This record gives sequence, structure tokens and C-alpha cells, in this order.
Amino acid sequence: MRYYSTRDRNEPYSFASAVVRGLAPDGGLFVPEEIPRFSHSAAASLGSMSFHEIAYETIRPFVADEIPASALEDIIHGAFTFDAPLNPVGGRFMLELFHGPTAAFKDFGARFMARVFAYLRRNESHPLKILVATSGDTGGAVASGFYQVEGINVSILYPKGRVTSLQERQIAGLGGNIDAIAVEGSFDDCQRLVKSALSDAELNKRLALSSANSINIARLIPQSVYYASAAGGLKARNAAKPFVFCVPSGNLGNLTAGMYAAKMGAPIDMFVAAANSNKTFSEYLEGETYTPRESAATISNAMDVGAPSNFERLSSHWSADELRRMIRGASISDSETRDAIAEVYRNTAYPLDPHSAVGWQAITRLRDNGLLDAGTYTVLATAHPAKFAHVVEPLTGAVKPPPCLEEAMKRSARSVTIPPDFDAFKALF
Ligand SMILES: *Cc1c(COP(=O)(O)O)cnc(C)c1O
Repeated sequence: MRYYSTRDRNEPYSFASAVVRGLAPDGGLFVPEEIPRFSHSAAASLGSMSFHEIAYETIRPFVADEIPASALEDIIHGAFTFDAPLNPVGGRFMLELFHGPTAAFKDFGARFMARVFAYLRRNESHPLKILVATSGDTGGAVASGFYQVEGINVSILYPKGRVTSLQERQIAGLGGNIDAIAVEGSFDDCQRLVKSALSDAELNKRLALSSANSINIARLIPQSVYYASAAGGLKARNAAKPFVFCVPSGNLGNLTAGMYAAKMGAPIDMFVAAANSNKTFSEYLEGETYTPRESAATISNAMDVGAPSNFERLSSHWSADELRRMIRGASISDSETRDAIAEVYRNTAYPLDPHSAVGWQAITRLRDNGLLDAGTYTVLATAHPAKFAHVVEPLTGAVKPPPCLEEAMKRSARSVTIPPDFDAFKALF
């Protein structure tokens, strides 16, 4: 499979170079030259194959000429050490993506990407140094995903004093090959330091440097797996068509992965892109021109994105008409989100995290407005509610944290503190 920048169809890249570069030199995102299709037999057996088998069928065509079958199987077994169960709740299904080590769906992408990097570096004698800036959320998934992965060291930069204590322990509590750097500044400072390092000639001569940002194609492809698995599961249960998948969305990576799965042949009829009050994409779906803007802070803060980067990927594969046919949008306020958490808990005793609640409420709104046909609705539960206990527990009472979060809270955070300037950062290498 060849890959191209969303901004230039002339220069092909291998999967390996797309992954190691992360972003194309022209600033575009890497996309596959075409979205592959499941074989007939694979499409027919999505309901009976194991999660690992579906992962293999889904990912294989994207990497086939570069990662041999047995290596891909090892990567899949190492990355997906947990499941993505479909849980029936209140007449819908919750696709629970929070059973990984940091209790959020980003574990799927981060763990897969880490093992792909390690595979691509297998013949190198020097370790690869990965630099990541985080505002708090993705840092934990990246730290956990790369922890103890051979041949890779990771430095995670986060704004000192501006992440929660759980986030700080997830970033700075593992040690080993994961270095945590607390920057006396903002997230933007962290990002600037990473960018400066990645383009510093002297550092790049000395070290193999890369980044692990969220737009890496190796984080996107593994996310298609749980859509294929869930849609196959619904079909095997003879659930009523159409199958509608509702995706709590920020940067639109998860939704793009769903669109890939549908195009590959997973039986998905429609998507709902559920947004909080950051409604750049939902307004676009309603017919307005695409207008990126500053993000607004909400209680579903992993979706606080005003300029979703994967929009560029979606529109490189599909026209506006196609996107508007396949995807419904809805924007949900914080108070509606809280109401949904309280109501679903009252009716079903199921605690939703704020992101999943935005998804739940988007379905309700579209149904009430006659914009969705009767069918089977699946909401992606993107985080465990205990991760957002400060929002959820006042509405539901105590939520029991999963063991991985309890363990993380027991760790102590060890990080190096630096002022927000490049010389101080560079002195660490
Ligand atoms: C990152 C994240 C999202 C948004 O996913 P995108 O792929 O950026 O659209 C939703 N929910 C949670 C809990 C997240 O961490």
C-alpha cells in the first residue's frame, strides 16, 4: 500500500516512512492511496472471528508489503491485550473502549503505534527518541503504550501544575523508558519545544528523533478494528438495521477510522458525529462552510477542538455530499451532557463519562427531531466514567475506578522541571 499527503498526490510514501514522519513535509496528513476491502469470507465472518483475527484482517492490507504476517500477529497480540465489548444499555449498545490500561480508547492507537515503531526500528542499534507534548490527556496513553517497548525512549512534556494528579501520575509515574518533563509554561510552550527539537539540525545528527502525535496514520488504522468487530457482532445478533454508530468527536480521528471500517465492508449504515459546544464539524454537516475556530472549554474536554485535524483526511476521501449523506452531526451543551448522565443513570444504573454522554444525547436529539431512522444505535464509550469522577459522581454517586486507575493513583510522579526555553530542554539530551 502506498501513502500520500492529503495535499500532494504526486509523491508516494511507504507505510514505514508515513509512520516515522508522522506529518507529511508539506504539512498534510498521510492517507492510504485507497481504502482496502475485506475479502468476502472475512466480511461474512466478522461476527464469529476473535478480536485479534478481525484486527489482522483489518490492518493487514494497510501494511501487507512491509510487515510480514507473523510480525503483524505479534504486534496485534502485544497491543490489544483487552477487549471492546458491546454492552446493551437502555435499548442501545455501548461499545466500551475503556478496558485498556489508561481507561480510554486512545490505548488502542497508542499501543499499536508503539509496537509498529519498535518493529520498524528492529535493525537499528540506537534507540529511537520519541518526543510528545501533552495538555494532559494523550500523555497517559502514550506513556503506557510505549512503556517497556524495546528500542524506544519517550520524553513527554506537560505544563507543570496544569494537569490533574491522575494525569501526572499516568505520565510521570512509570519511569523506565518514559521520561516526564514538567515545563514551567503552557501546553503551547511544550509543543513549541518539541517542534524546535524535531527541526534542530545538531540534535537530529546525534539522535534518531520522532514524534507520536495523534494524527499519525499508525494510530488511526487500529481504531477501525473495533468498528468492524462491533458491527459484525450486531449482525450476528440479528440486530435491526440500519446500524448507526455514534462517535463522540474532537479531532475526528475516531470517526475517520469508523468511515474506513464502513468502506472496507463492515456493516455500518450511518454515523453520528457527536460534538460538545465545539461545533465546527456539526455545522459543516448541516450545510455550512467549514470554519475552524478557537476551541471552547467544556466538561468533555478531550473533545475541545475547534479545528479538527482529521477533517483534512475525511475530505480527501469523501466529498461534502458523501460526508453529509453518511454522517449526521449534533452539538450538545454541558448542561445537556449532565442531564444525560443523570437520566441514563436513573433509568439504567449505567454511569456514562461526559464524552460518552455527549454521544448518547446526540442520538436522543436526532431521534427527537426525526433525523434518524429506527434501527440499532451504538454509542462509542470513549472513556471510563471514573476518569471524570469530578463531573460524574455528583450526578450518579460513587463510581468504582477500574484497577488500572487505582494502580496509577498509587504511583508517585517523577519528573524533571524546566523553564520554557529550548536551551534548557536541549541540555537534557
Ligand atoms: C480523544 C478523545 C475523544 C475524541 O476523539 P477524536 O478521535 O479526537 O475525535 C473522545 N473521547 C475521549 C475520552 C477522548 O480521549
